[in-house]
Amino acid sequence: MIQYLSFVEKPIKGAHVSTRASHLPGAPRTYRNGVHEGLDWYSYATGTRIDRNTPVYSIADGVVVRADHDYREMTTPEREALLAKGADNDGQTPEDILDRMRGRSVWIQHDKGLMARYVHLDRIDPHVQVGQKIKAGDIIGYVGNSGTSDGAKGNDEGLHLHLDLFLYGEWFWKQYSLKERRMILEGVFD
Ligand SMILES: [Zn+2]
Repeated sequence: MIQYLSFVEKPIKGAHVSTRASHLPGAPRTYRNGVHEGLDWYSYATGTRIDRNTPVYSIADGVVVRADHDYREMTTPEREALLAKGADNDGQTPEDILDRMRGRSVWIQHDKGLMARYVHLDRIDPHVQVGQKIKAGDIIGYVGNSGTSDGAKGNDEGLHLHLDLFLYGEWFWKQYSLKERRMILEGVFD
């Protein structure tokens, strides 16, 4: 897998893969009865300063398949109502609610069946439009906290990039243990 994904670059300059297990894919997320689908990049766990002026770079060449330029942040009551509705659904938060929790997102279809979701962005670069070709290392937007509880409060807490990676529509990490997931992510990004 490390070799397969060897064309992938860092989404944040100077950052390394998070030291926290809770930031890795597959970590539990009890507040929404689910698992963490991707990898989080926070200031305190990646060895670099990350704030609203931190650019997010495309991890590879690709084509934009989604760019939420018109995203509107939820209020705290709106967000809590969505979470409550999700909890009522046999304990499985449905995809449309999870989608709102991802806030302002960009999805890019990269090579070799790799699809990346860049999540919780503060803003998106204007050239990032659906159908647009993107080069590895192009700025696609800036780190934020949109879709999170802090985003709803409108504060500057919890700023991070959340990066989801899919291979042909499946979580790339599905068949691996936590230890293997860390090894793969470090092998790819660090
Ligand atoms: Zn996350």
